[in-house]
Amino acid sequence: MSRNVKVVISCLCGAAKQTVVLRTNESTSGPLGVDLCHCYDCRHSSGLLCVSYAPTQVPRSLDNLVAYPDESAQPSATTPRRYFCGVCGCHMFRYSAVGDGEIDKSWEVATGTIIGRAGVDDELAQVDDGKEEPLLRYARHVNADSTNDGGLSPFIKLIEGTEPFEEGWINESRGGDSKGILEAHCHCKTVRFYITRPDASSRLPRSGFSDLIVPGATSPREAVDNPRDEKWWLRPQSQDNPDLTRYMAGTCACQSCQLAAGFEIQTWAFVPRSNIFFQPPAAAASSSSSSSFSDALPLDFPTLRQTYSPLRTYESSPGVFREFCPRCGASVFWHDRWRPGLIDVSVGLLTADEGARAESWLDWWRGRVSFQEDAGNGRVGGVARWGKDVVETLAEGLRG
Ligand SMILES: [Zn+2]
Ligand SMILES: [Zn+2]
Ligand SMILES: [Zn+2]
Repeated sequence: MSRNVKVVISCLCGAAKQTVVLRTNESTSGPLGVDLCHCYDCRHSSGLLCVSYAPTQVPRSLDNLVAYPDESAQPSATTPRRYFCGVCGCHMFRYSAVGDGEIDKSWEVATGTIIGRAGVDDELAQVDDGKEEPLLRYARHVNADSTNDGGLSPFIKLIEGTEPFEEGWINESRGGDSKGILEAHCHCKTVRFYITRPDASSRLPRSGFSDLIVPGATSPREAVDNPRDEKWWLRPQSQDNPDLTRYMAGTCACQSCQLAAGFEIQTWAFVPRSNIFFQPPAAAASSSSSSSFSDALPLDFPTLRQTYSPLRTYESSPGVFREFCPRCGASVFWHDRWRPGLIDVSVGLLTADEGARAESWLDWWRGRVSFQEDAGNGRVGGVARWGKDVVETLAEGLRG
């Protein structure tokens, strides 16, 4: 017996809001299992280190959504088509052809867009949050082997575990800094940029503490403001080497990251703008696959917007900007008006030799998940429960 559950889904801007019917052949009761995928395609098209989708019936509407690859190419099981909101960049659906009239079985909805169960009127059903069991659960890590280092999978402990993943990746760095330049790109390579190692300019920005380090919800304003002007984004190369050659990175569970990406766990690196160099699309095209750092220009948002912008910007609240690739929908940057010198960079775009977590470049903050108190906010019933479960599992995994 299958259990079909009608849910309300939405992106951050609301343009893609609708209801969909989740479908499952699981006959057992309890939360529906979904996989966390760590593959290259999912990382570079989302900007995140892992994504999760739940099977759904054919969506009623694809209005306001951008298809990638576009409709001129047939999707297949190995190259699915993804749909994201053209306004805010949120990934909504994934579609893979399975053929033989079973097309409807191949639609999936991005789990981070699910707000709650729908009532008969297609509005959110009002339920007591504490009484519903979690709607979903992460069942397995899949494609973690394509990350070299496990990506985010070591931080998310699942009861049913992980696909076999051996390698000597734990606490092991495999170079990646040979050029001293880290390349980043979205899946379609419209967006390409480079990150350089910290230098004198990296100390110039002033910034309050990230919510990772000093939780805004529970800390006095004076503490959050970073009165001693600590350059918290610059991190030592290792426990034994105090040279500040890496950047801070961490996970975020805030509601707007979830709805801008379409998935529960966003991953950000905090990089000074002076260490980011953008590849103009013209240069990227003319030098084909071997575009190089020498063509790249310092990241400057006003110039990008006026001239050759390969980015689309969504102002998620006044003065707060999220950039994404207009062609493949990858999340690229978060930045705001008050902290112009320090940029949040989507870690899923990075291409470090040692692996997806890029640990020769990034120091992952293990103390907490940014905005973890917000988990489940904006969601109701069993969907809120699932949101809280995700963040509890992640926070516990990070602490080790
Ligand atoms: Zn949207
Ligand atoms: Zn994948
Ligand atoms: Zn792209």
